[in-house]
Amino acid sequence: MPRRKTKSQTAVIELLQREPNALSHDGITAKLEEEMDRVTIYRILNRLVEDGLAHRIVADDGRQYFASCKQNCEHDHEAHGHLHFRCVVCDQVECVPGDVNYHLPNGYQVDNSNITLSGSCQACSKNG
Ligand SMILES: [Zn+2]
Ligand SMILES: [Zn+2]
Ligand SMILES: [Zn+2]
Repeated sequence: MPRRKTKSQTAVIELLQREPNALSHDGITAKLEEEMDRVTIYRILNRLVEDGLAHRIVADDGRQYFASCKQNCEHDHEAHGHLHFRCVVCDQVECVPGDVNYHLPNGYQVDNSNITLSGSCQACSKNG
């Protein structure tokens, strides 16, 4: 039986769906219209990830970001099968559509990936 969504859960998933980029916990807290404590937000995020509505990104800066799941998500992958890009200029993390290709020596089988590249995003590299 699908678990019923609370009002707070709906607010968080709607925020993630509205945002073009992934959000950190602090970013979510700042953008939510209703006030929720950190623990509640953590609990909701974990549940959204468990339910396959959002995915967690551990970026190369060591922080966690969350993005809503889109059509290009492959749910048997930890990072849902696509790359993430962290822009060091505007400090945004985005989902990058497209396949992740590995060139590993024989004998390795990849089950999960969590790859975040960093640098300047499209908008920022144009300005620089
Ligand atoms: Zn996903
Ligand atoms: Zn940027
Ligand atoms: Zn993503």
